[in-house]
Amino acid sequence: MSEHSLVWFRQDLRIQDNPALAAAASAGLPVIALFIFAPEEEAPWSPGGASKWWLHHALSSLADELAVFGVPLVIRRGKSQDVLRALADEYHVSSVFWNRRYEPAIVERDTAIKQRLKQQGVHVQSFNGSLLFEPEQIRNQSGKPFRVFTPFWKHLRSLPVEMPVHVAEDLLIPPVSAAESESLESLGLLPSIHWDKDFYHHWDPSRKGAETALQTFIFDRVGSYKTGRDLPGVEGTSKLSPYLHWGQLGPREVWQAVQQTGAADGAGGYTFLSEIAWREFAYHLLYHFPDTPEQPLNQAYSHFPWQPDGVYLEAWQSGLTGYPIVDAGMRQLWKTGWMHNRVRMIAASFLVKHLLQPWQAGAAWFWDTLVDADLASNTMGWQWTAGCGADAAPYFRIFNPILQGEKFDPDGVYVSTWVPELKKLPARYIHQPWEAPAAVLQQAGIRLGKDYPKPVIAHQAGRERALAALSANKQINLAEQA
Ligand code: FAD
Repeated sequence: MSEHSLVWFRQDLRIQDNPALAAAASAGLPVIALFIFAPEEEAPWSPGGASKWWLHHALSSLADELAVFGVPLVIRRGKSQDVLRALADEYHVSSVFWNRRYEPAIVERDTAIKQRLKQQGVHVQSFNGSLLFEPEQIRNQSGKPFRVFTPFWKHLRSLPVEMPVHVAEDLLIPPVSAAESESLESLGLLPSIHWDKDFYHHWDPSRKGAETALQTFIFDRVGSYKTGRDLPGVEGTSKLSPYLHWGQLGPREVWQAVQQTGAADGAGGYTFLSEIAWREFAYHLLYHFPDTPEQPLNQAYSHFPWQPDGVYLEAWQSGLTGYPIVDAGMRQLWKTGWMHNRVRMIAASFLVKHLLQPWQAGAAWFWDTLVDADLASNTMGWQWTAGCGADAAPYFRIFNPILQGEKFDPDGVYVSTWVPELKKLPARYIHQPWEAPAAVLQQAGIRLGKDYPKPVIAHQAGRERALAALSANKQINLAEQA
C-alpha cells in the first residue's frame, strides 16, 4: 500500500477555501477524506436535533462534491483517536490535516490526538479554516483578550484579512482503495418523528445553497441591511449562520465577496462585516474564557436568584407566553430551526427577565432547536441578554415586548406569519391582543385564553420581579464580600 494523506473534516464541510484540504492536495499523495461522528466527545454540547438535521445534509453535499474528484468521503463512528490511528495504520498515512475548532472540549481532545499521532510518526498540521483571525492573534494593548466589542472591531479592521485559500481540485488524488465507510443514514442524524418537515421549505443545506444565499444577500439585500436587519417581517439578513457554523462557507469567502462587489463601502456592507466580526468576538471570548458556556463571565451573576419554573419554561418553548412577538419567534424557531436576531434578543430577554429563568435553560433550548447552534455565538448571545457577559446589555435594561413588537414589526407581518391565529387582528392590537375591545377580538375570531393565551405574566409585574431579583443579587454579592 502506498502512502496517503488524510484530511479530517469537522466543521469545515466544503472543498474551496479549505486550508486543510489544500495542504493535502498539494502533498501529492492519495487523499483520504474522513468525517468522524463522535458526539460523546463533545458532551454536554454534542449537536442538538436541528444541528444534526443540518449535518446530515451537509455531509451528503460534501460527499457529492468530493465524489466528482473520485475521492470518497469516509464516514466513521467511534472514538476519534482510535479511528484516526486505525486508518493511519491501514493506509500508511504519513500526514493528517485538519482545520481547528475552538470549543473547550474539542481543543483538549485535538491537542491529545495531535500528540499521539506525532508519537506514531505521523505529520500533523492544523489550520484556521473557520475564522478571519485566530483568537490568539487578537490582543489589546496590554496583551490581554478583549472584553468589549468596539475596540475589538477597531483592532480587527486594522488587520489584513487573508484571501480565501484556493484548493487545486485537479491535484486531488483518490485513495488507492476505498476505505470502509459507514452509511450516512446509519449515523441516525435525521429525526424519526418528522418535526423537520418544514425545514425543507426553508433551507437548502448544501454548498450550492450556501453560495446561492451569499449571492442573493449581496445582490438583493446588503444595500438595505443596516435598517432591514432589524425587521423580522422582511427578508433583511443573510441567513448564512448555519452555513458558517458547519463551514459550508468560510468567513474569508464571505468577507471577500462583500469586498469584491464594493458593498463593503456602503453602510449596509460595513454593518454586515461588523456582524461577521461579532462572530469572531464570540470565538475570541469562548477561547479565552472557556467556562462561559456554563458560567457567567461576570462573576457578580454567579449566584443570581433565578426562579426555575417548568411551566414558564414550557410556555416559552412552545410559543405560548401570550406575548405575540415572543411567541412568533419561538414558533419560527421550532418550524424552521432559525430565529431572527432581533427576536432572539426579545425572546431571550423575556425568558431571563420577565420569567426569571436561568439563561442556561434558554441556551440549552436554542442549542437543540437552532440549525445554526454554535457554542461561541449562543453563549455570547445568552450572556449578553442576561447582562452577565462581555459587553453585555445591563440587566436593568428590560425590553418591553409590546414596544419592541410595535417598533420592529409595525404592521404585524411577522406575528401574522408565525402566530396565524392573530392574523385577523388589526395591527394596533396585534402586539397586545388583551387590549383589543371584545368586539374586535370577536371579529378576529379570537377567544383570549382559548385560541391564544393571555400573557403568562403582566409586563409591569415581570419587570418589577426582574428588578427585585437584580437588587437581591446585589445583596447576595455584598453578603459574600462581607
Ligand atoms: P446576519 O445578520 O446576516 O449576519 C451575518 C453573520 O454574522 C451571521 O450569519 C453570523 O455568523 C454573524 N452574526 C450576526 N449577528 C451575530 C451575533 N449577534 N453574534 C454572533 N455572530 C453574529 N448565532 C449563531 O450563529 N449561532 C447561535 O447559536 C446563536 N445564538 C444566539 C442566541 C441569542 C440569545 C442571540 C441574541 C443571538 C444568537 N446568535 C447566534 C446570533 C445571531 O442571532 C445570529 O447569528 C443571526 O441571527 C443569524 O442570522 P443571519 O445569518 O441572517 O445573520
